Formats: sequence, structure tokens, C-alpha cells
Amino acid sequence: MKPKIAVFDFASCEGCELQIANLEEEILELIDRVDVVSFREVMKEHSDDYDIAFIEGSIERPMDEERIKYIRSKAKILIALGACACTGGVNKLRNKWPVKEVAKEVYGNADIEGNQLFDALPRAKAIDEVVKVDFYIRGCPVRKEQILYYIKRFEGMPPHTNLDIRFGINSRGMEPDTRTPIQYDGNKCILCRRCVATCNDALGVHAIGISEKGNESIIA
Ligand code: SF4
Repeated sequence: MKPKIAVFDFASCEGCELQIANLEEEILELIDRVDVVSFREVMKEHSDDYDIAFIEGSIERPMDEERIKYIRSKAKILIALGACACTGGVNKLRNKWPVKEVAKEVYGNADIEGNQLFDALPRAKAIDEVVKVDFYIRGCPVRKEQILYYIKRFEGMPPHTNLDIRFGINSRGMEPDTRTPIQYDGNKCILCRRCVATCNDALGVHAIGISEKGNESIIA
């Protein structure tokens, strides 16, 4: 059975959702692999029956907190989509000032008192400050290839979270190239950072950084 996916937005510019809508020819592949049951930006239909929820945007209001908790209760896998969702993004800039001052700056003398649409939390929050996030797709906006990667990954696989991913180690076993005065050892790290990019951007694991890497490291 195809996994059911839903896309939800909170405080954001909707640029990350647009990356999904902009999948162009790959959209056919997407529809082939998953059932999209909710995606406000591109469809009217909505269902609360989904396996994977992609969440764009940060949490700004008490009503947002309630809504994300409800989505979390329905989703087997919850993915934070883009900088706003992963970290709070630019929306967190407002955390430097008292919420009343910010509201005054934005809405002037408009009568917003008591209107829950304008009832802001004291500080903007990333998604994982309210509910558990299983995967993070970072970027502003995210790249559509990252989204496709996750969709393909979940197809036919039992959902699992980052912590369950394990890598086997296979030594490259490359002989050092001694043909020039500067010897190239293909087993050593040259800080190309491709492993970091793959771990963070493609897999969303965030386990590998460049700390301790370099010519003392062996590539496995
Ligand atoms: Fe827009 Fe960037 Fe936020 Fe995505 S992460 S919704 S592109 S501001």
C-alpha cells in the first residue's frame, strides 16, 4: 500500500512547500509512489488519515501549538521542512523583543486584543520545541531533491527514525599513489565535506561534522 503523505504549513513564506509543488516532471513519480491526502497549497481535499506529515513553518501562537500536537498524534513520521520548521528561522528574530512591542510595530493601532488569530506566544518556536520531529530537511528553501529522497526512502519501508540508521564499514583499501612528490593517499580524508553534506542534507541524520576530520582520518 502506498504511504499517505500530508503537507502542512505554519508561519512561513510557503517557499518550501513550493519546492514540492515545483517537482515538475517528477510529480508523476511522486504520485506513483505516495498518496497525497492533504496539501493546502495545491489541493482542496483534506484527510486526517496520513502516515507522513511534512511540516513547514514555525510555531507562533497557542493555536499553532494545539494544531501541531494534533498533527503529531496522527502522523507516524513527522518531518520538519525547511529552516523555519527546523530552527524557527527568521521568525525567531522577534524573540529579541517583548511580544507586545512586536505586535505594535506590525499591526499599529489595529484592534487585535482578544483575537486568537493574533494571540502570539511570548517567543516563536521551532517544531521540535513543541513536538517530536523524526527527520529534518534543512534549507531555505529546501531542495526538491531532498524531498524526493525522503519520499523514495519511505516507500515500502517500515517507518523508522534517524537513530535507527546504521552504516556498515567497508574499507576502501586504496593503494597510496606515489607517482609524484606529493603523495595522494586515497584512504585519507581531504575535507571535501561530501560525507557531511550527504549525512545532513540527503539523509537528515546530522551525525557527521568536519571536527576531527582531515589527514589523520581514514575514509571507510
Ligand atoms: Fe520560506 Fe525559507 Fe521558511 Fe522555507 S525555510 S518557508 S523558504 S522562509
